[in-house]
Amino acid sequence: AKGDGKRRWRRYEASVHTAIVERLELRAALARAVSERTFTLDYQPIVVMGSGAILGFEALVRWRHPTLGFVPPAEFVAIAEETGLIEAIGDWVLHEAVRAVAGWRQVRAGRATPYVSVNVSAHQLRAPAFVDKVSAALTAAGVDPSGVMLEITESSLLRDDDRAWAELAALRRIGVRVAIDDFGTGFSSLSYLQRMPVDVLKIDRSFTSTISGSPRQRALVEAIVGLAGTLGLEVIAEGVESRVERDLLGDLGCPYGQGYLFSRPLAAAAATALLSGPTAV
Ligand code: C2E
Ligand code: CA
Ligand code: CA
Ligand code: CA
Repeated sequence: AKGDGKRRWRRYEASVHTAIVERLELRAALARAVSERTFTLDYQPIVVMGSGAILGFEALVRWRHPTLGFVPPAEFVAIAEETGLIEAIGDWVLHEAVRAVAGWRQVRAGRATPYVSVNVSAHQLRAPAFVDKVSAALTAAGVDPSGVMLEITESSLLRDDDRAWAELAALRRIGVRVAIDDFGTGFSSLSYLQRMPVDVLKIDRSFTSTISGSPRQRALVEAIVGLAGTLGLEVIAEGVESRVERDLLGDLGCPYGQGYLFSRPLAAAAATALLSGPTAV
């Protein structure tokens, strides 16, 4: 059924390029979805590269259009950003993700405590009182700030630094961690990186997926890992799809990973089941 949805969407996408009317319809449908809260979240494990032990999950938003089926987030998040709907969607994602982590921490009581990593768009950071929203969500669910990491893309961090950086610094002061998403695809200078209010670099999938074929890519990843170490940042490799990639990344000193090799994004119940299962640490 999921495959059908994707095919329907592809067909739709092919016909939509110049069809402004249909784009407006999609916007309207998205606005309805926001008021009716018809989104869901999938959760993809973030693991220790060697053992596969689960450290946390990245929350990934999903939207099933009533007739078009599953619309990829890369598509509707872009529309939501243009229209400002991303703020309401982002608020929902934040609350839902924090609620999920509260549940996981109950399942895992007394053992290691997983976190949830939430994608945040530049619009959300710019909105007033973002810090208050995050702490309100944490308080409502009774979750410690260490239960949440926020992912900001490298490019949006570079775009509006002052305002966004101040918000992120304030979040880190209360104990929320911040990751640079898609690292390596923007153009952070070394002096910027040193000052950025972040804890974690997520190495973009474009590096992971070329690492096995190219010594140059390996050298780049090694340089990123070294840089992260120097700056005291944690590194997570995105898009790990094969054992070869996992092993190369491990050899280059990258301790954490995420990708189809470990697990596809999972529905909430499956993520919880994974945490309570025998393979969880
Ligand atoms: P992202 O933040 O870089 O998320 C990682 C994307 O890579 C996800 O796609 C995930 O399903 C996919 N992925 C994970 N492992 C692998 C792998 O091994 N191979 C390959 N080929 N892909 C892998 P998804 O779920 O389609 O999300 C796409 C983008 O949509 C995300 O990229 C993020 O930028 C955005 N997005 C998703 N959820 C949210 C959200 O709640 N808020 C915001 N603002 N953006 C979101
Ligand atoms: Ca992300
Ligand atoms: Ca990413
Ligand atoms: Ca991405």
